[in-house]
Amino acid sequence: IFSFFSLKSTSSPETNMTAMNSTTSNNSSSSSIHRRQKPKKLVVVMGATGSGKSKLSVDLGTRFFPNSEIVNSDKIQVYRGLDIATNKISMHDRRGVPHHFLGEFDPETEFTPSDFRELASKTIAQITSRRNLPLIVGGSNSFIYSLLAKRFNSETDVFDESSAINSVSSELRYSCCFLWVDVSLPILNEYLDKRVDEMLDSGMYEELEEYFAREGFAESESASRTGLGKAIGVPEFERYFKRVGLGGGADGSEVEKRLSYEEAVKAVKENTCTLAKRQLEKIQRLKDAGWDLHKIDATEAFRAAMGMTSDSGKRASDIWEKMVVEPSAKIVKRFLME
Ligand code: ATP
Repeated sequence: IFSFFSLKSTSSPETNMTAMNSTTSNNSSSSSIHRRQKPKKLVVVMGATGSGKSKLSVDLGTRFFPNSEIVNSDKIQVYRGLDIATNKISMHDRRGVPHHFLGEFDPETEFTPSDFRELASKTIAQITSRRNLPLIVGGSNSFIYSLLAKRFNSETDVFDESSAINSVSSELRYSCCFLWVDVSLPILNEYLDKRVDEMLDSGMYEELEEYFAREGFAESESASRTGLGKAIGVPEFERYFKRVGLGGGADGSEVEKRLSYEEAVKAVKENTCTLAKRQLEKIQRLKDAGWDLHKIDATEAFRAAMGMTSDSGKRASDIWEKMVVEPSAKIVKRFLME
């Protein structure tokens, strides 16, 4: 499953259909006295954690829109470090598509939505000046909102459910094509549980152990963390490593240590599923506020990828292609021609 959704198995032929010229920001006639700048065109790939956003964007970037550059909008992946725990797309899986805002920032500082608004808009301007197509890809809706909203107030959390008024605005400062990669929650949860096991198999435990050996432990469990310290896996495994010691050297029976480990893994799985659910609620709020999101249902591809049959990888690839990549490419092509 992991290798399918971490992009390694796609084998379809390469197709090149560019529409890049339509991504330039100013097409108005030079004879016009009041030249009005058209808003820049962006593609935004949204969805809960684990839903295949990275895979889809690289598929689009390598096979349909070769002048694409990806701007990461996952607020934890912007920091350097914990590449496995935060699920950063590997160099291999980026397949030559340029990525921005991945592991670029100091893990001990706080990179805020306002920072993202300011820096990502500069990067987008550079991408469009190269006549390339920016693809904004990531699950943090506060980052997506801060970047796209025409008016942004860093003091207001527009997703705050306790707020009486729905303050989500649909006035945007770019011309956006939104692709929402959706997977039904029960199937996504099943997949996320397996993904955590696979991340642990690929070295997440060792990565976290090194992280704590370097950074030390927080003063107390309730101490607020900065930057990368907020990543799922850090608080859950901090509790575990405090109990068993780094390198497993602390006193205590093997059974106790095993139970602590299982508790940490269970908490990581639960918190990942909670993150996915909350992200979906935020996407729904954007949709309810009038954002024109194109929902692409990837559930069948996930169901097939998790199947037990020997041909499930091939079936999942075929379904992914037909039900996710092709419809998405069609939507983006139409948008670029508008
Ligand atoms: P936002 O609400 O700002 O749009 P989000 O939906 O990505 O962001 P939160 O709801 O704030 O995330 O996140 C819940 C928890 O999950 C937080 O502790 C957050 O830091 C953590 N988290 C979010 N993304 C990742 C990630 N890629 N890797 C690990 N942990 C993450």
